[in-house]
Amino acid sequence: TLDPSTLKAFGNVAAGHDGVLSDPTGALVIKPCTPAEIAFYESVTASHPDLAAYIPTYMGTLSLNAAATAEASTDELAEGMIQTADGTLERLHGKKLATELSIVLENTAAGFSKPNILDLKLGAQLWDEGAKPEKRARLDKVSKETTSSSLGFRIAGMRTWAAVPKPVAENLKSFAEVEEDTGYTVYNKMYGRKFAAWNVLEGFEAYVLPPGTKKGRRELERAKRVLVEFVDGVRELRDIFRKKESRMYSASILLVFEGDAGAFDEREEVLKKAPARKEVEAEVEDEDEDDDEEDELPKLVSVKMIDFAHATWTPGQGRDENALQGISSTLKLLVELLGKVNAEI
Ligand code: ADP
Ligand code: MN
Repeated sequence: TLDPSTLKAFGNVAAGHDGVLSDPTGALVIKPCTPAEIAFYESVTASHPDLAAYIPTYMGTLSLNAAATAEASTDELAEGMIQTADGTLERLHGKKLATELSIVLENTAAGFSKPNILDLKLGAQLWDEGAKPEKRARLDKVSKETTSSSLGFRIAGMRTWAAVPKPVAENLKSFAEVEEDTGYTVYNKMYGRKFAAWNVLEGFEAYVLPPGTKKGRRELERAKRVLVEFVDGVRELRDIFRKKESRMYSASILLVFEGDAGAFDEREEVLKKAPARKEVEAEVEDEDEDDDEEDELPKLVSVKMIDFAHATWTPGQGRDENALQGISSTLKLLVELLGKVNAEI
C-alpha cells in the first residue's frame, strides 16, 4: 500500500504538467490523470497484451486529494495540494486537470543509474474531439510552427546527464539549464519547438551524445548500442499500431537510456554473459521463476508509450495515421542517426 504522505515530487520528468509524484523507493510514478487514461491502461491489460511491454506497468489508481487530506489533518492542505515527505506542498494538478484521480504507474526511468530521458510528443493533430475551439486553435498553431505538423512529432522535453556537464551553449541559454546538484542538463518545452524537419536530428544527437561527451570509439559504440535498441523498440511500436484502431492525441514515446558510462559498461557485461532468454521463456512453464530471472537482467534502454489522457480505441475507424506518422518519423530519424554514428566508428 502507498502512504500518500510519503510521496515526493518526481525529479525525473522530461515534460508535461507539474504534479508528477513518486514513492519513497522511486519505483512508481503517481500522476494526476483523466478517466480516459485509466480506461486506456485497463483496456491494454484486458485486450491488447501485445502493447503491454511497450507501456509502463499499470499499478492502479489513487484518490490522492481525499487520502492526503484525511491523513495529514493539517490546516494548510488546500484543495488540490498534497504535503510531501519533505514537508513541502505540491500542487497536485494544473487548472486543466480538474480531477482528484491519480494513476499509479511503473517508473520507467527506475533502475537506471543516470537515466537520460527524451519525451517525443506524437501527432500533427494534438487535440481530441472534446477540445474547445480555443484549445484546438492554440494547439494547431504550435503544431504548425513545429515538427509536429511536418513530422507528426516534436521533442517535448529532454534530460541528459554528464559527469562534468558542459555549460549550456550561448544560443541555447533560453532552452536549457544545467542542474548543478545533479549534473543533468534539463531542456524545456521550447527547446524542441525551435527545430524544423531538416535540423531536428540535432536534438536526437544532443540526447544520445550529450554536448561534452568525448566522441571516442567507446562513446560511439555505446551510442550505437542505444540506437540499435531504440530502433528495435520504436519499430515494434510502429508494427503494433499498424494493426490497431486507435486515436491517440498528444501521447508520447518516452525514451530512456543509461547515461552513466560506467554503469552502462557493467550492464553490457552482465547482458553478454546472460543466457539467451527466448528459448528459456518458451520452455519454462513456471512463470514466477521466469519473471524473477528476467527482472534481474539489467536494462540499457527503455522504449515506452505514455500519456494516454486523450487516447481511445476506435474499432472500425482504421489505423491511427496521426500517431503513426510521428512513430514512423521517429524511427526514420533514429535509423539516420544510427547510420551517422556507425560511419564515425
Ligand atoms: P502530462 O504531459 O499530461 O503532464 P505525462 O504522462 O506526459 O503527463 O507525464 C509527464 C512527464 O512525466 C513525462 O514527460 C515523463 O518524463 C514523466 N513520466 C510520466 N509517466 C512516466 C512513467 N511511467 N515513468 C517515467 N516517467 C514518466
Ligand atoms: Mn505528456
